Amino acid sequence: MNQIVTQQQLLTPQPIEEPAVAPLPDATPVTVAYGDGIGPEIMRASLDVLFAAGANIAIEPVEIGEAVYKAGNSAGISSKSWQSLRRTGVFYKAPITTPQGGGYKSLNVTVRKTLGLFANVRPCVAYAPVVSTRHPGMDVVIIRENEEDLYGGIEHRQTAEVYQCLKLITRPGTEKIVRHAFEFARSNGRGKVTCLTKDNIMKLTDGLFHKVFDEVAADYPEIVAEHMIVDIGTARLADTPNDFDVIVTPNLYGDIVSDVAAQITGSVGLAPSANIGPRHAMFEAIHGSAPDIAGQGIANPSGLLLAGVMMLVHLGQTEVAERIHNAWLRTIEEGIHTADIFKPGISAKKVGTQAFAEAVIARLGEKPARLATIDYSAAERMVPAPEASPAEPVTKALVGIDVFVDSTRPVEELAGRLQAAANGAFELQMITNRGVKVWPNGVPETFCTDHWRCRYMAKPDKQFNRAMIVELLGKLSAEGTEFIKTEHLFTFDGEPGFSLGQGQ
Ligand code: NAD
Repeated sequence: MNQIVTQQQLLTPQPIEEPAVAPLPDATPVTVAYGDGIGPEIMRASLDVLFAAGANIAIEPVEIGEAVYKAGNSAGISSKSWQSLRRTGVFYKAPITTPQGGGYKSLNVTVRKTLGLFANVRPCVAYAPVVSTRHPGMDVVIIRENEEDLYGGIEHRQTAEVYQCLKLITRPGTEKIVRHAFEFARSNGRGKVTCLTKDNIMKLTDGLFHKVFDEVAADYPEIVAEHMIVDIGTARLADTPNDFDVIVTPNLYGDIVSDVAAQITGSVGLAPSANIGPRHAMFEAIHGSAPDIAGQGIANPSGLLLAGVMMLVHLGQTEVAERIHNAWLRTIEEGIHTADIFKPGISAKKVGTQAFAEAVIARLGEKPARLATIDYSAAERMVPAPEASPAEPVTKALVGIDVFVDSTRPVEELAGRLQAAANGAFELQMITNRGVKVWPNGVPETFCTDHWRCRYMAKPDKQFNRAMIVELLGKLSAEGTEFIKTEHLFTFDGEPGFSLGQGQ
């Protein structure tokens, strides 16, 4: 059984096996993980503030992360912790360390995906002039897709030289996150949503994200919708963040862009995040476990504390959320700063993690004088957008196959063998290496690895079926061609569902 602990027990470090003490009868159960590195320090400090402000929550501590990984659980989370998470539906989580190598899966990604937390909402706000930043007035919310993209973790080593990672972008996943971004903008009085993709290169996957963004944007005519290629978009964000309002972007770009955005507000230690799904929600800082400063009591607890504020808004405890947020603003406004944001001339006093929390507690009930006061009285619970629309019926036709081959032979020799195996219904159209066409008409300057994509297309007058593919693979196998995977090529309502080779 997970245990319930009270504010008093949290004022000093406690092993999570401490005996249960009953919370108030109407307290909302919340699963809490103290995490790794600076995690226990900043979680303790944050919970101290939450309880001092009157948060009506009953915490169920669970152990996740490094110790669980190292005890032999490659997912970093036990089934007991899952039970707590699924029961409470609310997870307040400190950062954890994912050990490098060794087949450990990222616990953060597992939790987000298993509980369907598809939207990662990351407000990045500058607090000039009280926190040093080059970007006074910055107030950008990054809405990062949380379940798809390269974070499927579907990776393979295919040859001696080549490894691959599968990037998956889905229409329902994209529609959900884009709609969430527009709904967030609408309910928070924000006027613009910017979509960042790399669809000039990834025309099908990122192209879908952009296309769905344009479709969904049409339902929100009062909100300005714009698209930028992610590289120039990130550069502009780092240079002129005040041109941005809400940003929606696939998973990997969102991860990078939100760290950039948080850092330029003054410190990565300031930014919170909410991971929202239909039935569950998880609240955490955007930064990691900062092993370089762990155990020193100097980490900034603000990212996790503000994540706690987002959690209280989510739970409908808006008055408590507002008290904490305003006391926190007042504290940083008075120049009481942790080392990461301390600047002589701007800051008044350098404090450690716990002293910072105590300074916030001492200011509960106060409001900032120079920074804008927070008012959560009209704040709405972040509910996910309605389910994505069902897929339109589409006519799908098999028109070819890409056979991936492991070979160190010259490409002309490989092409001869592959052509000989074609069984009259299709022909070898091209061979690429790392995506660039090297047959026919390749050039010797192109660097080639041992990994070849060999495209067979059906002849125009032929019907193509899977039995022919099996026959083709049988022939290739019989004459010793080492194929390592195949991708079937389809058209959808006549439109190719595959990209051309570079140079094709
Ligand atoms: P990091 O965010 O932990 O640290 C980056 C830099 O920012 C460090 O110099 C660190 O000292 C500083 N920093 C971070 N948070 C701070 C805070 N609250 N106050 C003051 N300074 C702070 O990133 P990293 O070093 O790349 O990753 C360390 C570990 O964290 C890795 O194992 C990584 O997998 C993990 N990680 C976990 C999460 C999570 O649990 N959500 C997120 C990102 C990284």
